[in-house]
Amino acid sequence: MNPTYNFDGKVALVTGAASGMGLATARAFADSGAAVVLADLDHDAVQAAAKDIAAPGRRAIAVACDVTDESQVAAAVQRAVTEYGRLDIAFNNAGIQAPAADAADETAESFDSVNAVNLRGVWAAMKHELRQMRIQGSGAIVNCSSLGGLVGLPERAAYHASKHGVIGLTRSAAVEYAPRGVRINAVCPGVIDTPMVAEMVENQADAVAEILKQQPAGRLGRADEIAAAVLWLCSPGASFVTGTALPVDGGFTAH
Ligand code: NAD
Repeated sequence: MNPTYNFDGKVALVTGAASGMGLATARAFADSGAAVVLADLDHDAVQAAAKDIAAPGRRAIAVACDVTDESQVAAAVQRAVTEYGRLDIAFNNAGIQAPAADAADETAESFDSVNAVNLRGVWAAMKHELRQMRIQGSGAIVNCSSLGGLVGLPERAAYHASKHGVIGLTRSAAVEYAPRGVRINAVCPGVIDTPMVAEMVENQADAVAEILKQQPAGRLGRADEIAAAVLWLCSPGASFVTGTALPVDGGFTAH
């Protein structure tokens, strides 16, 4: 990641931090001086990630957390406060993809599971982070939406509904908390080269070619390019930015 920031003395929580853009963002915050709490469903992977990030003398701990369980989310926030004394920054990033399905054939199970992680998980995380941030009177939250929060695509209705919902949560809470010193924004990644899309990259050359036609930059994005946007949104440079849904998508949603 090119830009440099100084988050010395700040405490950041990242959900879905064991992989992809959550991992890249947790690493970028730690490299920029923040103490980072990495939360993820995958206990072993998140432990390994925190250990790796902390190795060069950074501050990072792992918490096993399923964001579909509100009590586990509350405990992860509490762990950050207990360990590091406060919570300044959160990237609510944990998410899953739903299998592609004709809108007439999508199952209720698929709709419920994708919304439980992508929408309810962000709702729960933001709720408990705000309980700490309203005491402090300061904080910056970034919720992970998607290009799927801004446009529709065939066979993606349930996933896109979850990501549109993230923007609704973000905007309403941002309006509510702007006078209280807490900024809340969403980031809307385009198609990014992470484990979430790795299977498609390996096995579905046609699908990738189709995406690249729609993503004017002509390539997949990188996890560190999402991290760069999240760090900026949480930095003093974005002090007047709240309630926005920032596309970081190589131009996907610009046409
Ligand atoms: P990824 O699969 O590499 O990482 C997601 C992480 O979230 C994993 O470590 C996983 O264990 C964790 N996770 C899944 N369910 C969880 C749960 N219930 N509780 C806690 N953690 C859980 O994916 P990624 O591509 O880095 O995606 C991160 C976010 O970005 C997701 O919200 C995704 O929807 C969104 N997104 C991804 C893309 C893309 O092209 N990769 C595009 C737009 C938006």
